[in-house]
Amino acid sequence: MFLGHYAVALSAKRVAPNASLGTLVMASQFIDLLWPLLLLAGVEHVRLDPGNTVVTPLDFYDYPVSHSLVGVLLWGGIVGGVYFALRRSWTNSLVVGLAVVSHWVLDLIVHRPDLPLHFTGEPRVGLGLWNSLPLTLVLELGLLAVGTFLYVGATKAKDRTGSYGLAGLLVVLVGIYVANVVGPPPPDVGMIGIAGNASWLFVLWAAWIDRHRQAVR
Ligand SMILES: [Zn+2]
Repeated sequence: MFLGHYAVALSAKRVAPNASLGTLVMASQFIDLLWPLLLLAGVEHVRLDPGNTVVTPLDFYDYPVSHSLVGVLLWGGIVGGVYFALRRSWTNSLVVGLAVVSHWVLDLIVHRPDLPLHFTGEPRVGLGLWNSLPLTLVLELGLLAVGTFLYVGATKAKDRTGSYGLAGLLVVLVGIYVANVVGPPPPDVGMIGIAGNASWLFVLWAAWIDRHRQAVR
């Protein structure tokens, strides 16, 4: 899942209008921001296995710290807790914590049974929507469309940056997603850990957009 996580952040603005979209993107993508660091540190592992599912050439055989259900609940608590310590808003902290957990729920729909429940790495679950490219695209693009609709309804641009910055982010996200799906698999596993860190750019981009939009009502 890729676009769907951004859709969660966009939608969350509806319930947490004064939380920054940057924070919400950081939360909904948190475990995918953690994962490349754990890959580079040698704590978690992935291997190339073209055909693993139709959509991804990756075999996520070892990622219990970032992607187990227990791990994600823990990360949700930590991120929500840090947010509360900084901002003192129960509602927003809850939304931020739930956004972290939402990542696992969305991943559950698309991954084949490779998502562990515990840190031990077993048992593993996944509904495997990635076995169908058309259904995956319908879900990802559909979620992004709904998220965009909700975000645009919940905020209005203060200036041109607020409109064009948002449009630009959506175009780049969809472009990267399509290139990923139709393009060749990454050359090696090391590249995945390095390239994965680029997602921080979208956190900053979202925060920048948010400063140029204001919550309505
Ligand atoms: Zn993930």
